[in-house]
Amino acid sequence: PRAPDLRSGPRRIALANQKGGVGKTTTAINMATALSTTKRVLLLDLDPQGNASTGLGVPRTERGEGSYALLVGDRPVSDLIRPSKIPGLDLLPADNDLAGAEIEMVGMEDRERRLANALTRDAAALSRYDYLLMDCPPSLGLLTLNALVAAQSVLVPLQTEFFALEGISQMTRTVERVKRLNPELMLDGIVLTMFDRRNNLSELVARDVRSFFKDRVYDTVIPRNIRVSEAPSHGLPVLLYDVRSAGAQAYIQLAAELLRRDRARARAKATAP
Ligand code: ADP
Ligand code: MG
Repeated sequence: PRAPDLRSGPRRIALANQKGGVGKTTTAINMATALSTTKRVLLLDLDPQGNASTGLGVPRTERGEGSYALLVGDRPVSDLIRPSKIPGLDLLPADNDLAGAEIEMVGMEDRERRLANALTRDAAALSRYDYLLMDCPPSLGLLTLNALVAAQSVLVPLQTEFFALEGISQMTRTVERVKRLNPELMLDGIVLTMFDRRNNLSELVARDVRSFFKDRVYDTVIPRNIRVSEAPSHGLPVLLYDVRSAGAQAYIQLAAELLRRDRARARAKATAP
């Protein structure tokens, strides 16, 4: 039998936006949790801040080895994955050394492909998953670049605020540039986050973003919701902290929309000439 390759493995999605505080980590954690009810999901924490790890209940003192060991230490994926307390959701945490990874990788061979290579080397371990979500740091440095080179899709959480469209042009240019290294990469999702129904501006910004990016913008909008911001301090996704909250319900819808879009894409591919 042929060795498994990445193509037969999980759908690989990077959550990226060079701006901080826009909802990347919140979206990664909650989409992963919502998907895990029907799919097997691996969440890879690529942010030295390790918020995705903390938000899933793995505090800094308990992280051990993680994405730094993967990217710089050449450790196999299977040694670094650990179960989360959510069935169906595993975590590859950010270890405490990850902050140094960008500088250490600069001099390395294939520095933008270290993650893609690591995932390919251990494709067998990855083939157990349906989805691999990669939570990126708030920059377009080497860590994010590695995620984009290893991903099939970029999902961009976009805070529904006045400068939303300006921020995203840098992201689209980066995706175009990365396509030379990874031709299959698509920016095929923008998720509007922290939408405030009481504020007219949110409505205007959403309309602008939709008229520019059309159906690449998810129908589901994530509202600004206090329960979402409380959940991480309990080490829980909002889906477990308060499933009835507007934020949790929105993330359930978002995951369902992702699955719908992925099925539609698979169908289109199957019938393409
Ligand atoms: P990023 O990963 O892009 O830096 P985070 O997901 O960490 O952004 O979100 C930044 C902050 O905003 C966090 O404190 C988070 O709890 C809060 N937050 C994210 N989404 C929402 C939301 N829909 N409603 C309220 N607070 C939110
Ligand atoms: Mg984050």
